[in-house]
Amino acid sequence: MWRDRTDELSRLPNVKYVYVFENRGEEIGVTLSHPHGQIYAFPFVPPVLQRELAAEARHKRKTGRCLYCDLIQQEQAGVRKVLGGDRWIAFVPEFARWPYEVHLAPVAHRGGLLDLDEQDDESFAGTLKELLQKYDRLFDKPLPYVMAMHQRPPGRGNAQHHFHVEFYPPNRTKDKLKYLAGSELGAGAFILDARAEDTAAELRAL
Ligand SMILES: [Zn+2]
Ligand SMILES: [Zn+2]
Repeated sequence: MWRDRTDELSRLPNVKYVYVFENRGEEIGVTLSHPHGQIYAFPFVPPVLQRELAAEARHKRKTGRCLYCDLIQQEQAGVRKVLGGDRWIAFVPEFARWPYEVHLAPVAHRGGLLDLDEQDDESFAGTLKELLQKYDRLFDKPLPYVMAMHQRPPGRGNAQHHFHVEFYPPNRTKDKLKYLAGSELGAGAFILDARAEDTAAELRAL
């Protein structure tokens, strides 16, 4: 369904970006209690994606390589890896803004949902489920989160983007949430009292 809608919406002349996401849990401000996702078609590339695309372009100019391919190769080493096989990897990025933030990405270079093959799909579904089960075991309750799919914008010239799915659970502990305050909201600088290596080990062990 995600791919189908991405394909359809990408063809519309005024659509510059198709954004697939899910909000889960009351803590995130969810108004519908049943599981649901959302797909927004924007007439512009949203700021977070613009910044990612610019960083990827910069890295490509400097090294000739894909930023995320390099990142994944680094994370395969293990200390921040949560789970994964040959096709998909889940890890807590060293630049995480939330204690249990996880990025899930195809190991091979794929730009978005439209670029995945059948084996990618199969492995994506399995890894996604495994990750969400870990999340729910973390505090023995359905963990609230925002799931953001970062795929390439439609059209040619965007092949350098590397597809990944970002998860932002707001929890610091079972009953403590991280709130965005002065530094995060006013300066755009996230302060974190958890090490990616530690939260990744915690999730890995579940
Ligand atoms: Zn890549
Ligand atoms: Zn991203």
